[in-house]
Amino acid sequence: MEQNCLICGLDESEESDVVFRDDLWAAEIVPSYDVPGWFFLRARRHAERITGLDEAELETFGRRARDLVAAVTQATGAEATYILMFGESFPHFHALIAARTADVPADRRAGDILKLRTERADLDGARALVPAVRDAYARLASQALVPSQSLPVAGG
Ligand SMILES: [Zn+2]
Repeated sequence: MEQNCLICGLDESEESDVVFRDDLWAAEIVPSYDVPGWFFLRARRHAERITGLDEAELETFGRRARDLVAAVTQATGAEATYILMFGESFPHFHALIAARTADVPADRRAGDILKLRTERADLDGARALVPAVRDAYARLASQALVPSQSLPVAGG
């Protein structure tokens, strides 16, 4: 771990802020990104950018991202849930998973949703959503993967 990595430091965050942690990945709410419905999905190991992930991280990232997006969507009732990755201010690999609920106006959607970082900062509101997202994540992540061949065929 690099000294003073803000994202590595999230390993110390309070239990009330944590959706899940496993060997490779963690999801938490992050002070200064404390908009209700926003979560960081981050590598536990200090790995920089997507190009710094190892094989095990690359193989599991998609599943974790899918399960967390699904959990956030269920828990918030969001019309859309975004995955944002820049890797510039904080090169430690992470994605911001951001619920875009129906009350977010048109000029705050897509990339402009980041303006809500200051406009809707609400740590208590963000923490209040954690238990519901944690429960939804636990439920979704425990489901077996469905092979694509067995998905129902439209009209079939
Ligand atoms: Zn780090």
